[in-house]
Amino acid sequence: MKPVLQHQGSFRWEGVPVQPYKSEGSHFRDVTRQTLFGPGAGLGCELRYFELAPDGHSSLERHEHPHAVVVVRGAGRVLVGHEVFELRVFDLVRVPPRTWHQFRAASDASLGFLCLVDGERDRPVRPTPEELEALRQRPEVAVFIRA
Ligand code: MN
Repeated sequence: MKPVLQHQGSFRWEGVPVQPYKSEGSHFRDVTRQTLFGPGAGLGCELRYFELAPDGHSSLERHEHPHAVVVVRGAGRVLVGHEVFELRVFDLVRVPPRTWHQFRAASDASLGFLCLVDGERDRPVRPTPEELEALRQRPEVAVFIRA
């Protein structure tokens, strides 16, 4: 195993493929994934780099496993629970278990972040129509989310 995988500029790393965010679905837009440290690293966790193109968004989801996120590129916003937060480079985002979350890039900037997760994790679930309705009770959430 090569000890150092060099950064090649523009948030690309030597030998790390740029992959689709998820293999299926249309509940997200313009997102790529790079697995920087995968299951093979022997740590029990994985470190991924996600990048959302301007106006791109991740899926609105929740699950049992938490996320620890470090923003490293651009700007955007995130829904965590029932609140929307502005994001800038080096901000830290903590998504607790079973908490709704969705990332969105700014309209004029990409949003790139490192995301740490448990190596063994449950599948994300998306809101039911009733849960979506409940989320939309807050106006700032209603205008933010993309489902
Ligand atoms: Mn998630």
